[in-house]
Amino acid sequence: MDIQSTDVERIVQQVLKNILPDTEKMQKESKEEPVVKTYRPGEAVIAPPSLPVSKKASYGLFDSMEEAIEAAFEAQKVYAGQFQLKDRERLIQKIRETAKANVTILAKMVREETNIGRYEDKIQKHLLVIEKTPGIECLKTEALSGDDGLTVIEHAPFGLIGAITPVTNPTETIINNVISMIAGGNAVVFNVHPSAKACCAYCVQMINKAIEEAGGPSNLATMVKEPSLETVKVLCENDKIKLLVGTGGMPMVRALLRSGKKVIGAGAGNPPVIVDETADIKRAAQQIFLGASFDNNLLCLAEKEVFVIESAATDLIYNLINEGAYLLNNEQLDKIMNLVLTYEETPKGKEYHVNKKWVGQDAGRMLEAIGVAGKLECKLLICEVTHNHPFVLIEQLMPVLPIVKCRHLDEAIEYALIAEHGNRHTASMFSRNIDHLTRFARAVETTIFVKNAATLAGVGFEGEGHSTMTIAGPTGEGITNAVSFTRQRRCTLADGGFRII
Ligand code: NAD
Repeated sequence: MDIQSTDVERIVQQVLKNILPDTEKMQKESKEEPVVKTYRPGEAVIAPPSLPVSKKASYGLFDSMEEAIEAAFEAQKVYAGQFQLKDRERLIQKIRETAKANVTILAKMVREETNIGRYEDKIQKHLLVIEKTPGIECLKTEALSGDDGLTVIEHAPFGLIGAITPVTNPTETIINNVISMIAGGNAVVFNVHPSAKACCAYCVQMINKAIEEAGGPSNLATMVKEPSLETVKVLCENDKIKLLVGTGGMPMVRALLRSGKKVIGAGAGNPPVIVDETADIKRAAQQIFLGASFDNNLLCLAEKEVFVIESAATDLIYNLINEGAYLLNNEQLDKIMNLVLTYEETPKGKEYHVNKKWVGQDAGRMLEAIGVAGKLECKLLICEVTHNHPFVLIEQLMPVLPIVKCRHLDEAIEYALIAEHGNRHTASMFSRNIDHLTRFARAVETTIFVKNAATLAGVGFEGEGHSTMTIAGPTGEGITNAVSFTRQRRCTLADGGFRII
């Protein structure tokens, strides 16, 4: 059934007004005899699904982290014991269909609750993970057959996973993580970013309802209603959690790594772009504009700074302006810096930091704030700076793209490595010279390296390959999928039995 825009508005307002979905109503209803109600996509938090609901339905949402862990732990035992691979695929298909039917609600809810990014791009991000997160097809069994017998190596579940998610892609990460993790046979407990707890609660409940409708166990994905650093600690210390997956900034990844558990860490990036004199400059400008303005540059893999060879710089800036970018003059650059950065005393001396008020905000609103009128539709600000400018070195997560002129490729690579800070996250280059492309790719050592396209192509957005919202650079799993969330198990049959050669 199609969802009308009035329905979207009504549901978003209802959920955000109540901050958390109406679980009390659900729980009251669930104490009564189970009833069959008609489930409409989009009504996920206000009406039970069309199956008889369980007596203690919470659809994955719990008051305490301990309860969230216990419920998901029990769910995983049932899932591992009673469900087959084909069941996993059926549940995932139902999650995809339900999430797709809810995509405008999710995008609107995320935009309104977090107050960052662009609604239309959030729809694209949701569709990307819904359609391009792979399922069980990744799980390929390996077989070794030889004179001494037959050995199979299979991808087994970790069991219960604890996942920390960011505010920049809150529900997108949940959908992506759930598909990959349950494809691997796991259950997951989320500790979401507190600034996105209502949309994440909606998403977790929507997913659990979809799973139940498809005949799956309750509470395969759970979350605590009021996430905090304290609840992260509980998650890290609980013995039932066999794997921690952290998507967000480096302090969080480092905190998880101190837990003593197996960790998949997806941390910060500050992706540099190099444009050399052989590049198709018009295409470079189109693609850089697309990537750097998408969702107001909230993505960890978005282009954050450009190093261009001097002879190509004027052409690149001209083409970026043609795409719709606004070139700041020196006076405007100073004003934007004062607006979106703070200059604070730290133990290491005075440092620039991002002013959180402006993270993920529209470029047009930044211009308005410094007195440039009539540019509200503008999606990207560009400025010419030196390689050590704060806009180059700080991961801003804003649509402000600094451009640094370089004398030659060696200089561009040197500056790009400094700006990337060894995060090994993402980098890109526009060039027709294979040697140049190879030199930068080798030097920068990033998890994603994109040639002649927006870095979004590296997660399957107009690029080949599957998608993820958890790009695990620090711990090396890369573009995560179901295999990342499994452990290898080997079974050996000696004496040649079952072999046919
Ligand atoms: P954040 O680090 O502030 O928060 C992420 C999550 O970690 C939240 O749930 C938060 O509550 C928790 N958290 C924060 N500090 C913590 C600590 N010290 N101990 C334990 N938990 C902690 O990040 P954010 O603002 O939500 O997201 C933006 C950051 O995440 C950027 O740096 C971006 O590059 C990065 N990111 C990386 C990826 C990736 O795949 N590599 C994807 C998205 C975002």
